[in-house]
Amino acid sequence: MAVRVNRSLCNGCGDMAEPMCVAVCPGDLLYRDESNRCAVRDWRDCWDCAACVKECPRQAIEMFLPVQIGGRGSTLTARSGRGRITWKLTRPDGKEEIFEIINQTFNEVK
Ligand code: SF4
Ligand code: SF4
Repeated sequence: MAVRVNRSLCNGCGDMAEPMCVAVCPGDLLYRDESNRCAVRDWRDCWDCAACVKECPRQAIEMFLPVQIGGRGSTLTARSGRGRITWKLTRPDGKEEIFEIINQTFNEVK
């Protein structure tokens, strides 16, 4: 798998000193480039942890699901909210499916 930045959605996290996706990447693979957009140094080093996908407030990072795991080129984006993450799966033909994951731990400690 790998991630791709949708540069038309990314705003570089505005005035933040460090973009949110850059802050959470365990492999230091993401950076803010000269056009103030997020870029990936080398997608081959990506661990597919999806931390950046979940952290981006603009749903600008997509994760590819390859043929090998049945993804057939589908992509995933995420919208994180309080106690839940909403995942959007977009198939190559443009059809979309939504999955909502509830963070039980968050909801129990509220
Ligand atoms: S978190 Fe999203 S909007 Fe912010 S720099 Fe990264 S990809 Fe762009
Ligand atoms: S999926 Fe994980 S390892 Fe890959 S770029 Fe995003 S945060 Fe970094």
